[in-house]
Amino acid sequence: MTRTPLIAGNWKMNTNLGEAEQLALAVVRSADDKLDREVMIAPPFTAMGEVGDILHDSRVILGAQNICWAEKGAFTGEISPSMLKELGGTMAIVGHSERRHIFGETNELINQRLAGAMTNEIIPILCIGEQLAEREAEQTWSILEKQIRGGLAGITIIDPTKVVIAYEPVWAIGTGKTASPEQAQEAHAFIRKLLATIYEKDIASQIRILYGGSVVPDNIDTLMGQDDVDGALVGGAALNSESFERIINFK
Ligand code: PGA
Repeated sequence: MTRTPLIAGNWKMNTNLGEAEQLALAVVRSADDKLDREVMIAPPFTAMGEVGDILHDSRVILGAQNICWAEKGAFTGEISPSMLKELGGTMAIVGHSERRHIFGETNELINQRLAGAMTNEIIPILCIGEQLAEREAEQTWSILEKQIRGGLAGITIIDPTKVVIAYEPVWAIGTGKTASPEQAQEAHAFIRKLLATIYEKDIASQIRILYGGSVVPDNIDTLMGQDDVDGALVGGAALNSESFERIINFK
């Protein structure tokens, strides 16, 4: 079975309401007629309602930048799966490197977020990736394995289209230093092989693995040309409608 490519835009803590609406409208215009690929955008929570309205009758998917596992209650600062769903959201990024490294989120916490999303029929995008010092110390594979095994601990996957992995080397995020297509492919192949040992080979071969980290119009085509690269998680370039349009239109 072929994997449907997914281009996901993570707006992070950017855009005021007006900017978010303009950008969402532009993404709908760029993406709505693309039937062979999926496009997701994750605006800040403050713009989620308005962006959700704009995406409502479109093919563009509304995603959250993070998600709590609990339905409601004393979780200051968090958003529940049903709150996201009420606005039309169906995907959520979990374990982004900024959550891990600025806010101290652990593999255990990320696992809870991922499980909560899946229980509530939200597709999680589990982000993993090594830091520069870890790559230099040749710890890349052990770090990725720990993040995958930790993030997916206790998770049963019946439908492989309902969970997404994003490989984002931390040294490539927002730095302009993209992993080379070969480095990306090597990591993606490693991840897929690992998934095949945790789940069935059949399941692993259908899980989408996105690349993230300084994806721009100039490198999207070669990245997408790699066998195990099934899409991109885009930060900076997702904030510019022309750049994002070009990325959506990867060849
Ligand atoms: P970047 O961010 O494209 O700005 O490097 C990617 C990400 O953090 O997901």
